[in-house]
Amino acid sequence: AITNHMPTEELQRLDAAHHMHPFTANGPLSKKGARVITRAKGVYLTDSDGEQILDAMSGLWCVNIGYGRDELAEAAARQMKELPYYNTFFQTTHVPAIALADKLAQLAPGDLNHVFFAAGGSEANDTNIRMVRTYWAAKGKPDKKVIISRKNAYHGSSMGSASLGGMGYMHAQGGLPIPDIHHINQPNWWAEGGDMTPEEFGLARARELEEAILEMGEDRVAAFIGEPIQGAGGVIIPPETYWPEIQRICDKYEILLIADEVITGFGRTGNLFGSQTFGIRPDIMTIAKGLSSGYAPIGGSIVSDEVAAVMAEVEFSHGYTYSGHPVAAAVALENLRLIEEEKMVEHVRDTAAPLVREHWLKLTEHEMVGEAVITGLMASIALTPDKSTRAKFASDPGTVGSICRDICFSNNVIMRHIGDRLVIAPPITITPPDIEEMFTRINRSLEQAASAIKD
Ligand code: PLP
Repeated sequence: AITNHMPTEELQRLDAAHHMHPFTANGPLSKKGARVITRAKGVYLTDSDGEQILDAMSGLWCVNIGYGRDELAEAAARQMKELPYYNTFFQTTHVPAIALADKLAQLAPGDLNHVFFAAGGSEANDTNIRMVRTYWAAKGKPDKKVIISRKNAYHGSSMGSASLGGMGYMHAQGGLPIPDIHHINQPNWWAEGGDMTPEEFGLARARELEEAILEMGEDRVAAFIGEPIQGAGGVIIPPETYWPEIQRICDKYEILLIADEVITGFGRTGNLFGSQTFGIRPDIMTIAKGLSSGYAPIGGSIVSDEVAAVMAEVEFSHGYTYSGHPVAAAVALENLRLIEEEKMVEHVRDTAAPLVREHWLKLTEHEMVGEAVITGLMASIALTPDKSTRAKFASDPGTVGSICRDICFSNNVIMRHIGDRLVIAPPITITPPDIEEMFTRINRSLEQAASAIKD
């Protein structure tokens, strides 16, 4: 049998022989060998050589409560023994789905009171595409089909959600985006703000939504979708003026507003939801990741009373085998219980985020670090050869970022590079001593990276 006790090289050989990694050039990786993670506790991963790696990315921005919480394992085991599976199609339901939907209705802001479950964020965003089009058709406006999204957005990897996404390389396989998806520019002030103040730039970028609606006709536009903070696009924190203007425009032209909170949900920004941090009143909210802290695959769309009332009048031809999976739902419920009982959101707001922020802003003292931005426990830095002009490196975009990321990895701290930005999103439970350790490792890595890049 293949076990944790096998030599690392053997595990790497087998991995390269049979396992295709997502978003990876598998040839070069197989030569180098993937790092084999064997166990994890708190903010630390352990690899097959016994190294302790500080995970400043919460896996893929998802392990909000940190690793190794037995309560979630026990909730899964209890549910698996009692009712491992049943579906929620047609006329059946079960207690974990009922209880989780009820809990989410209590927690979500405004009148977001109804949940359509999925197994992750991509599936949930596919639900949203179908749902908003079905909604407008049911209201007698079948031409309202266009969904406006943003360049560099990430909304998932399925054909529908990748179409919402604004990463050109994800459309490169052909046929994407699917029809009636339109992309406007993102509010990335550092890279694209020119001479404007962040406030002016935020307004200008939001008004591109209005221009697009006027160009296409409001009778054709169904919805706008955006991540409160663009995550995989580089942790782009919008200027303060951006979201209020987007909200105003959606209200004015009767466009449904979808907040993709797959990353920003469940404490990440210092509130339970990013919409609360930015004053957004979404009609639909996409959730996944932190909903179960990654311990089980689950996601969903939380929708307003009004959207749910219209959807109740039609049969919605859509759903997944694992919509509301009982084991995943039980794990999510236990996760939400811990977030509340252990006051994890308050911990972010009062303790972790202020301390991380203090260290994070100081990173601009490094010669390569241009802007440093942070909201809650979601942060990024822009790397540049010249801060005064916000210049780009002469090398291909992302080369310097990947060198920095690799040096971090060799120093046992996981940061992610997105082009020439470096980002973190550590577990929301991270303690002050772990925060100090994280910055010791990050600062050491950035110093080594600066000399590696000069060589
Ligand atoms: N939406 C956002 C904002 C995301 O960051 C992601 C994943 O990173 C997704 C959707 C897709 O979620 P999943 O990978 O669970 O399908």
